[in-house]
Amino acid sequence: MPVTQTHCTACGRQLPTAIISNAGLLCNTCMGQGLFRKKIIITGITRMNQGNICVSGIDPDTWRFVRPLFPTGLNRDFTMESKTQVINHFNLVEIEFKRYRPENIYHTEDWIINENFAPRFVRHLTNEEIIRVLNKVSISDLNMAMQPQDKSLFIVKAQSITRIWDEQYEKFKVRMDFIDHAGNAHNSVPVTDLLTLAFVRYQKSIGNNNYPTELMNIFNNNPYRYIRIGLTRKFQDKYWKQVTALITIPDLFDGRSFSFYETKIGGQA
Ligand SMILES: [Zn+2]
Repeated sequence: MPVTQTHCTACGRQLPTAIISNAGLLCNTCMGQGLFRKKIIITGITRMNQGNICVSGIDPDTWRFVRPLFPTGLNRDFTMESKTQVINHFNLVEIEFKRYRPENIYHTEDWIINENFAPRFVRHLTNEEIIRVLNKVSISDLNMAMQPQDKSLFIVKAQSITRIWDEQYEKFKVRMDFIDHAGNAHNSVPVTDLLTLAFVRYQKSIGNNNYPTELMNIFNNNPYRYIRIGLTRKFQDKYWKQVTALITIPDLFDGRSFSFYETKIGGQA
């Protein structure tokens, strides 16, 4: 399914001519500039391999998703400024970008960032602002939104989570079944959200095995319920769905961060 690019991916200005491409395009001005800083609304912090993490957010100038990358991979230190977790859900954070590096299928959100510029905390969004962001960027039908293959990050309006469970297979894993707002069932989707992983490990560490029911009750009874989905890179010929955040208003984790729970369990989720 062809996708037509009409606006610059970085600044949002209209391109002189529309171009058919799944990946976004830069205008001449943005293409010609060196390092530049941008404020991003953080929407996901997820677990990768070898202790690395993946961060993603939304550019409020263009309402496009952005995935900041270091060529060497991001570690947990990137999210912290001494003991404070700067990279946290719905924080507005300034990051210095080097260049846009999209893939042609799905992963069109990748930007190489300057590893010498520490992300600068601007502020945390108010609940009213978060609702506006969700209204602006959320989708209700994940299957349909994946069809053009021009995005790997989605905020999905959810009907309900129908099952949550954890398992120990190679490493600690959490999975869930959920139904999106359009009624599509998505089953056994792994959760890579660091916050949910750390929260579940903490619940188990205090002997609370009833956490799935409690979490589902809070989530399913909230009028604002969204599931952040990210697609993996191609693996065994597929781009796999992963749950990269659970979003409700007010926040179902009471605004706590993954580092809060990792400190409590004394290790990495
Ligand atoms: Zn531009």
